[in-house]
Amino acid sequence: MEYRELGQTGLVVSRLCFGALTVGPLQRNLSPQEGGAVIRRALAGGVNFIDTAQLYRSYAHIREALKGLERPEDVIIATKSYDFTRDGMAASLEEARRELDLDVIPIFLLHEQESEHTLRGHRPALDYLLEAKAKGIVKAVGISTHHIQGVLAAAEMPEIDVISPLINATGIGIQDGSRDEMLSAINFASEQGKGVYAMKPLGGGHLLSSWSEALSFCLEQKCLDSIAVGMKSFEEVDNNLRFFNGQRDLPDPDKTYRKLHIDEWCIGCSMCVGECPNGALDIVQNKAVVVDPDNCVFCGYCGSVCPEFAIKVI
Ligand code: SF4
Ligand code: SF4
Repeated sequence: MEYRELGQTGLVVSRLCFGALTVGPLQRNLSPQEGGAVIRRALAGGVNFIDTAQLYRSYAHIREALKGLERPEDVIIATKSYDFTRDGMAASLEEARRELDLDVIPIFLLHEQESEHTLRGHRPALDYLLEAKAKGIVKAVGISTHHIQGVLAAAEMPEIDVISPLINATGIGIQDGSRDEMLSAINFASEQGKGVYAMKPLGGGHLLSSWSEALSFCLEQKCLDSIAVGMKSFEEVDNNLRFFNGQRDLPDPDKTYRKLHIDEWCIGCSMCVGECPNGALDIVQNKAVVVDPDNCVFCGYCGSVCPEFAIKVI
């Protein structure tokens, strides 16, 4: 396993980062024990970097994976919150510390920043994180984003340490431009000393049919210190470990394509439509419908707000 310093944070991370959205209730919905075992297998294989979020509800899975480790503090966990207020971010950070059973959260990000304007709107939350960093409760702060403008804005801010942008071989899910425009922004951010780790290298599942090409594309980008790959089974962990350890002649490990399932008891409240960052959903005849399937990256965010538990990635 290759390890790299994440920008100028002083944190040295494995090139393969465990994306922990997939084990939680928005996707495969493994129990904390089952999901913890999958994460633990990746840790045993050399992964030392886990990406999660308050939204993903996978803190319990990570806590299980860390249980009994001699030095759980050596595992670098990045989490994120949508909170934009000081009090809201304080509560988010405390939740992460309590639920992960850790005194220090290595990386805390503002979730899904779109541009300098949303960053300005989140200033109180960012200031709280910077104070937490000064106290040693957080080691690095930053943003996650599906937007080129989000990367460019964060790259210009000296107080931002880490950026987690959406990037993949086809550019699926990038909200405001092309793959190459996003790569150019990421290169600029890397040159400014930001630690950069990619999200959605497989386009949320759309690129599973060209799995090895999709991962190779990200691995070849020198500006990507690490690449977060969602994993939900021992088989996926083992295949990703082999691939990141240099074995490139592997068959496609997962022929099961993900899809978004909407149950018939959907009441058409439109909560999911507003939550989708990619404009993939709409209400048609009082039911949620995927109106732009090519733009759905199977993030499961829509399911997190459904009051009827009627929509999920399966
Ligand atoms: S429809 Fe749901 S799973 Fe698909 S991109 Fe939108 S929020 Fe994510
Ligand atoms: S949030 Fe749930 S109930 Fe409301 S429209 Fe979406 S799927 Fe239907």
